[in-house]
Amino acid sequence: MTIAAWPASERAWERTKGSLAGGVSTGLRASMKPHPIFVEGGAGPRLTDLDGNSYLDYVLGWGPVILGHGHPGLTAAVSAQLPLGATYGTGHLLEAEVAEKVLDRIPGMERVLWSNTGTEATQVALRLARGVTGRRRFIKFGGHYHGWSDPMLVGYRPGADGTLGLGSQGQNPSALEDLVLVEWGDLDAVAEALKAPDSDIAAIFCEPVLCNSGVIEPPEGFLAGLRELCDATGTVLVFDEVITGFRIDRGGAVTRYGVTPDLVTLAKAIAGGYPLAAIAGRASILERTTQGIVHAGTYNGNPVVLAAAGATLDALDEPGVYDAFERQGRALADGIRAGFARHGLAVTVNQVGPVVQCIAGVADARTFTDFIGADQEFYDRLTVQLLRRGVFTLPGGRWYLSTAHTDADVAHTVQVLDDALAATLA
Ligand code: PLP
Repeated sequence: MTIAAWPASERAWERTKGSLAGGVSTGLRASMKPHPIFVEGGAGPRLTDLDGNSYLDYVLGWGPVILGHGHPGLTAAVSAQLPLGATYGTGHLLEAEVAEKVLDRIPGMERVLWSNTGTEATQVALRLARGVTGRRRFIKFGGHYHGWSDPMLVGYRPGADGTLGLGSQGQNPSALEDLVLVEWGDLDAVAEALKAPDSDIAAIFCEPVLCNSGVIEPPEGFLAGLRELCDATGTVLVFDEVITGFRIDRGGAVTRYGVTPDLVTLAKAIAGGYPLAAIAGRASILERTTQGIVHAGTYNGNPVVLAAAGATLDALDEPGVYDAFERQGRALADGIRAGFARHGLAVTVNQVGPVVQCIAGVADARTFTDFIGADQEFYDRLTVQLLRRGVFTLPGGRWYLSTAHTDADVAHTVQVLDDALAATLA
């Protein structure tokens, strides 16, 4: 049975547009096809909407809901904290207990700073890098996303003129002066940029797997090469693990690729859907926040979200979690590939653990430029056909799995995809 229309969601959207800009809480959500669906609630890997439709959820809140919806351990931990108060504004042991769990999982990290969103975490990381080096500029890679702040929202997607520049109207154009933009994987270009006598580079930022633009892994030796260049030049190496952290391995990209940066930014999966972010790193850098580098925030170390994080990290330590992520991620990726092939359609499917990327219309996408060439119009229509068949996916081609998804869910999804592809082509 397919869903013909979403009358209750449509009515809800009409109503919410009267009070919320765009009718939902981000511009991206407003752009979801055919329109945002309005959720009644979630359970495990499923969401139910106001029309009573149930969906297998591969959006997972755009990544954070790594245990699925309403996970009992997570819910119990949050419920136990709620009567004890929402926030304290001074020390409490939970903030250290969860920091210890982070340090236990990511080798080479010595301290943690708590923050609320990935955007804040990357901002703080940049400020720390500037503070400890006394330098101003930073290197980032085309297509990497480090949040929506003025300095960071650069070089993410081509603008109307086709170039990779500022990411938003109203953004301070000085962001361009502070940036050296390099192609992902081009170590020679990084070395060149660092060598320039007036380079003034404080940090290299990267998503260690380019999850936001194609789930493109670093070329062999590339992260180690960045580490060497940073060591040689006194540059701060930052892995933005907002997506990869605790997801592609127990210790994220640091353990998966065996390279230790100076700072790691974390968010999304860390608290199973609650708003928490962290900066982990070397003590000599993070301790500078007590010596003049400002890291502030009323909600930093919030006990409710930290209760969620403690329970999430414990649940991710259950035996077999990362094996299941890898197995299901592969099955989903293989299924998408096979479905496109059966319908004679070109595709590239990349997968790292429970993160899968479908690049429709491009046979062998290896670079950010290849990824940008995806057939977005076709993929948008496919997401609507998937939605009609009870599979909720992100617009840009990325799929997330949670611990609540089963092998049977993935097998069912692959079958549904076949029908959805046929309907998209019809
Ligand atoms: N860094 C990366 C790699 C991200 O994927 C995101 C968000 O998607 C951010 C930073 C920003 O995080 P937030 O949306 O929590 O501000």
